[in-house]
This record gives sequence, C-alpha cells and structure tokens, in this order.
Amino acid sequence: MDTLLEADLTEFHPAEPPKPPALPMAETFFAGAILSDSLAHGYVLKGKASGALYNLALQVAQIVNCKQRPALTVNDQPALADLACGQCKDCRWVAQNAHPAVLTVSRFTYQVSDKDRPELLTSEELEKLAQKANWPTQIKTDQIGHLIYQLGISSEYTRVVIFTDAEELPASIPSDVPAPSEWRSLEATQERSFHIRPLQRHIFNANSVNRFLKTLEEPPARMLFFFIAETEEQLLETIVSRCQVVPCLSADSGSGQTVPEAYQAFLRGFLNRLAQNPDIYALGAEFGAFFLQEQGLSTTQALEVLQLYLRQHFMGQTAFSEHGFTAYRALQQDLATALRMIASKTNEGQSLLNLFMSASPHVQALLAP
Ligand SMILES: [Zn+2]
Repeated sequence: MDTLLEADLTEFHPAEPPKPPALPMAETFFAGAILSDSLAHGYVLKGKASGALYNLALQVAQIVNCKQRPALTVNDQPALADLACGQCKDCRWVAQNAHPAVLTVSRFTYQVSDKDRPELLTSEELEKLAQKANWPTQIKTDQIGHLIYQLGISSEYTRVVIFTDAEELPASIPSDVPAPSEWRSLEATQERSFHIRPLQRHIFNANSVNRFLKTLEEPPARMLFFFIAETEEQLLETIVSRCQVVPCLSADSGSGQTVPEAYQAFLRGFLNRLAQNPDIYALGAEFGAFFLQEQGLSTTQALEVLQLYLRQHFMGQTAFSEHGFTAYRALQQDLATALRMIASKTNEGQSLLNLFMSASPHVQALLAP
C-alpha cells in the first residue's frame, strides 16, 4: 500500500512557487502558536474567504505532520509557509488533501455512505434525502459516531479535523481548494467542483453535536479541530466556547470575486420578473439584450454571472430556510444543465428559454418571504 501511494505521489506536480499570504494576520498568529508550542486543540476560523480559511487549516495540518520541519524559531519570524518542508511524503499528502490523518467533515461526506450503505438509513430518511435531490442538509449523528470511532484509534500522526460546509458547482467554476478524498468518490465528481462555504447552525444536528462535545473538550493526544465560519453566531455556543476564535482578514479584504453593480441592478429586476408568471420569450430577449448585446458577454459568461449573483445573494444567509435551500439548489441545477447544454452546442437561445421556464418556480420560491 505504501509503495503504491509513493508511486502515485511521484506523479504529482512539484511544489508551486510561494504565494503571498492570503490571510496575513491569521498566518502570523498560527506561526507563533506552532513555534511556541502553544497550539490550542480547537479553533474557529472566522472570516469571509472560506476557501482561504480552509487552506489555512490544511497548511497547519501540513506543518504539524511534516517529517522534516525546518529548524526555525520565533526569533526568525518565519512565514507560516516556511514552517513545513513541502517535500516530505506527509507534506505532499496534505497538499493533495489525501492525508489519512486530515479529515474533512461536511454534509457531503455523508452522501458517500448514504449511497454505499442505504440499509443504514430509515425509509423516512431515505425519502427525505430523495426529496432533497440527495442533498443532505445536516451532518448526521452516525457520521459523528464514525468520526469519534476513527479518532479513538491511535495514530502516529497529529490528527486534524476540519468542519466546513461546501457547495457543489459545475466544474467550469474551479474551486480554490484541493477537494478532500472524502468528496472524490462522489458520483460524477468530474462534472462538479466543490467550493468551501461557512458552517451554519442548521448544519449541526443537536444529537450529533452533543455526542461530539466531550471529544472536543478532552480530545485524545495530538489532535486539532478547525471550524470554518463566517461569524460565531452561525455556530453553536457549545462549540464556540470550547474553541479559540481566530479572526481571519484577507489581504484583499476578502470580498473575492464580486458581481459588478450594473449586473446586480439588472439581475434584481430580472429575477423579480422571472418569479411572476413570466413571458419567457420576452425575458429571454431581455436577458440577451442586456448581457450579450449591451455588455458583450457570451451566453456562458452571462450564466456564470447569474450563478455567482445567486451564490452571493442567497448562499450563506443566516436565515436561510430549508425551503430556500431546496429552491436555491434546484436553481443551481437548472443553471448547470443550461451550461452543459450550451457546452455541447445545443442552441443557446433554446437553452436559455428552457432554463427560464424551469427556473421560474424556483426563483419564486427563493424570493418568497
Ligand atoms: Zn514536510
């Protein structure tokens, strides 16, 4: 097994040139904690740039498992990136997000076992999952049970567990994090990319959290927990009180990719009209006139703008109902279908009409109070 893995790893790309720190203050904080040997066992990484937060947790995971750590001290004031060798087997494993001691826990992790072991689910759960188009809305109790079991097995490594939410998007929108192995076996992953999103309260099931609190409070030796969040309010108090909260401000203030104001103004009105028993042909013409003729975008680019707009306006809302989630999810699937059809050279105008036709009730549900 080890030989196989070694062989696999030699095919991976060599280390990339160093990038400027994405989260300068938080990186300095962790460099100090590692060098002074004062890491806590649980951290809430708090900030808007969820992907960067997740990568920060991976970076710490790499350092604490690196077999050839450079001999540096606090006095050298090294950057966090200098604290791991980047070359040893463990470093490369973490860089690929395939290290056996680095676990990502999300709603999506569960989807694998749903499919593999449907007999473990009650018929009620199965039906609920099906209704939600196989999109689990929570981290489940037996998922946490499995985690506690895994962590109970002794290991030569420092175990790092990252709790996060994620969103699946078409592969045409690449993710800024390496997908954890837990997600790679998901069906048709080649067509999708997973984007890190902050945790929200409703993702935790009260029972599963209660089972986990003891482990979080008195973890076995050499174990680190990270929670990716935008604010403490989106996590349960029982978790926050057992962790150290680290504010993570991005170098670029973390807004990331945003939809230009003119596009937002158009889309606000457009989505409202789409929600109200629309004239699909008129809306298709309106959409084309604005994005294609006025703004000079391609249909694909216009749909990607719409995708981004929906994500920024509806994903990560604190008061997002399950109902809203389902509508949002259905809309993103409609969009993914349209993008796929356009990529396979289906008539673009017809693809847009199909999209607006099936999206109308979902937009209505999404905009409903
Ligand atoms: Zn290393």
